[in-house]
Amino acid sequence: MLKAYKYRIYPNEKQKKQLAKTFGCVRFIYNYYLSMKKEIYETEKKSLSKIDCNNHLNQVLKKDNKYSWLKEVDKFSLTNSIYNLDTAYQNFFTEIKKGNNNQGYPRYKSKKNNYKSYKTNFTNNNIEVDFINNKIKLPKLKWIKAKVHREFHGKIKSATISKTPTNRYYVSMLVETQIEPLSQNNNKIGIDLGITDMLIDSNGNKIPNPKTLYKYEQKLTKEQRKLSKKERGSKNFHKQRIKVAKVHEKTTNIRKDYLHKLTFNIISENQVIITESLNVSGMIKNKNLSKAISDVSWSEFTRQLEYKSDWYKRTYHKIDPFYPSSQHCNNCGYKNQKTKNLSIRNWTCPECNKEHDRDINAAINILNQGLNELQIA
Ligand SMILES: [Zn+2]
Repeated sequence: MLKAYKYRIYPNEKQKKQLAKTFGCVRFIYNYYLSMKKEIYETEKKSLSKIDCNNHLNQVLKKDNKYSWLKEVDKFSLTNSIYNLDTAYQNFFTEIKKGNNNQGYPRYKSKKNNYKSYKTNFTNNNIEVDFINNKIKLPKLKWIKAKVHREFHGKIKSATISKTPTNRYYVSMLVETQIEPLSQNNNKIGIDLGITDMLIDSNGNKIPNPKTLYKYEQKLTKEQRKLSKKERGSKNFHKQRIKVAKVHEKTTNIRKDYLHKLTFNIISENQVIITESLNVSGMIKNKNLSKAISDVSWSEFTRQLEYKSDWYKRTYHKIDPFYPSSQHCNNCGYKNQKTKNLSIRNWTCPECNKEHDRDINAAINILNQGLNELQIA
């Protein structure tokens, strides 16, 4: 399945210059071959195919010193411009055959058109997306700063780079996604976020935080503390800031990798997945660092569940953020105010005598509350 992913890019001055040059060359090629096609048709009653034009471009035009600047831009952009011209002709002839005379003859591209774009093709990793560091690599431009808000898995086929009249730059990636469908099942799961454990589910499983992640998070805390003691703007401050950035990147990679495996397993095994919503106001108030770190994992975890549910046709739902999931007995519904105290890990329901593990009880309540909200019995 081919899917398009569009991202905003932030080229630097040098890259902007290269982009402007490419937009210009693409327009030039389009207009040049439009003229040539017209002329050959009028004089010899022959039509030039896109292959003819492309051969002429490579064998004649690019070898002519007058046009040596054509060699400075992405070669695919020029070929694609010829292909675009061909499509314009095809459309024109199709409409004429249908008897529609309103379809105009292909027109010259004006310099004054403020919307500019060109297309390039993927070959030998000339196009890459760095999801972690928010960068996109394009032919002749190297890495460009980008806002990669959505992740994809699959092979990049092509990229279309555009510039809007408001001077914003975008790249739209065409990706062959290989999503193997998963078979449907009847399993439903509720998941609670933990601090000691990463996740606790309604089946009674507790998934610990990975040890390597813990190790790096400790290291990150240590390096950040060191940074805070350096004089801002000093050489040492700069050095330390790079060190922090590197540990941060490593930590993020380990976390994402671990969460990818985890979310894939959850999605594979369950048809309905219910979680809490991340309590943002609680997050700001809480200065506890281990809590802050688990919040980062939690938002990444829910983000992955969200798009993977979409891919694999699962139901993912976040419950009402004000629902007190740890206070109710999942057996009889009794509300135990004492569980507001986070140090209470186990309790026995005074109504029905059921013994509860605090987190597993919460996960079961999350599941039940979610099914209620979804109106799934
Ligand atoms: Zn009870």
